[in-house]
Amino acid sequence: MKRIAIIGSTGSIGVNALDVVRQMPGEFEVVALSAHSNADLLSRQARAFKPKAVSLFDADAAARLKQNLNGFCAHERPGTEGLVEIASRPDVDLVLMSLVGGVGFKPLLAALRSGKAVALANKEPMVMAGAQLMAEAKRCGGQIIPVDSEPSAIFQCLQGGSDSTAALTGGLTRQIRKVFLTASGGAFYKHKGSLAKVTVEQALKHPTWKMGRKITIDCATLMNKGFEAIEIMNLFGLTREQVEIVIHPQSIVHSAVEFTDGTVLAQMSLPDMRLPIQYAMTYPRRTQSVVEPLDLVKLGELTFKKPDFRRFPCLALAREAAKSPAMSAVLSAADEVSVTAFVDGRIPFTSIAKVIEKTMKLYRAPEGLPDFDEVEAIDRWARTKAREFCGR
Ligand code: NDP
Ligand code: MG
Repeated sequence: MKRIAIIGSTGSIGVNALDVVRQMPGEFEVVALSAHSNADLLSRQARAFKPKAVSLFDADAAARLKQNLNGFCAHERPGTEGLVEIASRPDVDLVLMSLVGGVGFKPLLAALRSGKAVALANKEPMVMAGAQLMAEAKRCGGQIIPVDSEPSAIFQCLQGGSDSTAALTGGLTRQIRKVFLTASGGAFYKHKGSLAKVTVEQALKHPTWKMGRKITIDCATLMNKGFEAIEIMNLFGLTREQVEIVIHPQSIVHSAVEFTDGTVLAQMSLPDMRLPIQYAMTYPRRTQSVVEPLDLVKLGELTFKKPDFRRFPCLALAREAAKSPAMSAVLSAADEVSVTAFVDGRIPFTSIAKVIEKTMKLYRAPEGLPDFDEVEAIDRWARTKAREFCGR
């Protein structure tokens, strides 16, 4: 049995991952579960999956959880320390990182330094410091297996391109001409008129995927696609020019790779995250899945369009930030702050991009790769500035 730890088990990805575990009896042992503050759901998950340890980031919620689970399993400390403990446990083979935001950076680093295989949904750390994390993984024997549907699609296409191990080590880069990174277009792709007055509720209505709040807002601004472009550059050693973003409203082609001979391989399936989650969890094996098979005739049509960089300025900001690893860290931090401000009703939708742009303009990005301490310092600086711009 593969022994797994899930960091972010109460979220959209985490719940789907536990569903995959439930559907595959005898395949996985759930060793540890962790979340932010949802003590009720984590208690229920712990009773169902019987992990050896649990943790909640929030100290008050952690105390409630301890009461709920009275002596049932071990409790790691609240805060980042508990996440790091869980990410580096010696009795874990695979860490599923399904928490949201830059807070995942330290546990991801810890997991890679412990030589773990990491099924990675939490994209923000890969935007903050993806190249450095990949180098650290290589140095320490860790491995990142993408969970996000587009990076997973590219990863799967690369395995069709040549021998599979090269896909994870960047050894295939020479054979890739470019990548088509597909985007649904988010909540406002078809919205007519100004986006200045759209509500949080409208922004949270994603046309094809059901996900957590932050990523759904990132989809509505298209920042999510900008993040994924940076993430796949770091994961697969691609240049900015090798990534072409295309709007594909049906979310059936999850991305495609064009090889040097002109062949394009695409990965297709219905939009259901349980499929890429399961693949990352069972990799390199393919297994039976609960996901409905694809009926191409029923689908009828698949369409692809150019994105509108002017209407969705976050895409242009991400493209700019992709030139510099330090600026990418600024981008991710400023986005997290401004999305929170929008969801809390403190800034309008269109100010998300404005806050990020102002923060980026203020930053003088150094040449080269910042080390991990520098990345954390950049992250703190950008959050402080972005909060000021949000008018806190
Ligand atoms: P959700 O908001 O649904 O869930 C977030 C999870 O992270 C919850 O379990 C939450 O706990 C936990 N969490 C948040 N902060 C902390 C913290 N400080 N310490 C420990 N746990 C924490 O998010 P999603 O599942 O939608 O997304 C998770 C990540 O996966 C994101 O980075 C997203 O970009 C990425 N992703 C998601 C996809 C999806 O389909 N949902 C698709 C592709 C990528 P609690 O419930 O207690 O608050
Ligand atoms: Mg995605």
